[in-house]
Amino acid sequence: MNATFTNEKRGKVFLVGAGPGDPELLTIKALKILRKADIVFYDDLVSPRILGVCRKRIQMVYVGKRLGIHSCLQDEINQKLIQATHEHHTVVRLKGGDPSIFGRVGEEVLSLLRDGIQCEIVAGITTASGVAASLGSPLTHRDYAREILFLSGHKKDGVNSDSFQNLNCIGKTIIIYMGLNSLGPIVSELINSGNSKDTKMAVIQNATLESERVFTGNLETIESIVEENKVKSPAIIVIGEIVRFYEEIKSLKNGCASILSQI
Ligand code: SAH
Repeated sequence: MNATFTNEKRGKVFLVGAGPGDPELLTIKALKILRKADIVFYDDLVSPRILGVCRKRIQMVYVGKRLGIHSCLQDEINQKLIQATHEHHTVVRLKGGDPSIFGRVGEEVLSLLRDGIQCEIVAGITTASGVAASLGSPLTHRDYAREILFLSGHKKDGVNSDSFQNLNCIGKTIIIYMGLNSLGPIVSELINSGNSKDTKMAVIQNATLESERVFTGNLETIESIVEENKVKSPAIIVIGEIVRFYEEIKSLKNGCASILSQI
């Protein structure tokens, strides 16, 4: 759809969650919108199989931002989205997981609304939920964890140490997004805050994909485990007694495959 719209006929932007990786974890609503899309702006963590559901010959624009390598700055993305609504009816901004969780959707919604552009957020399955199902183990359990904390390991200007200072890990599950590159400082902060070195941890790379890798350890050992196994991004970190429960479940399953079966 390339005809230029008048101001009253601007396109609408859908900020859509693509889920954690497994294409089958895309929501039906996301699938419907992707099939209608006239242009799609997508990130690094969106699987090619998900992009494959879009109609042929529409524009697919990569606007990824790998940590440290800002191939496309947020302001540029905001401008590209605004510009696209002059030329297209259905503009999709496709993000990994759920757009509302560490997805910078706030910046985009604000910029669109300030320009008078209609937009809608379409929820996705966040990595934390995807990884729980993939591991076959919950994030909460009445005997292990009654609270969940979603934290970012990273902030605009580096490691997000603030969130880990004085953080007590007992009785909760702590999920750290974007934490792999800050694992050392995070672990030190948690130990300095009085948490036992035995506090359980897991690091999961490529959660929900066939290439998923899971490593477990504790505050003292996890850094060397991650280093020895050359764990790469994307990876999510889970801290708390729930990791012990996962290990129990895993031993009962006798090593059955953890990846969700395709329907
Ligand atoms: N909006 C996303 C999170 C974006 S922040 C969501 O709801 O899941 C990006 C971080 O998400 C990565 O650094 C990593 O910590 C995590 N992540 C995304 N996909 C992942 C995957 N398949 N496996 C492990 N971690 C993943």
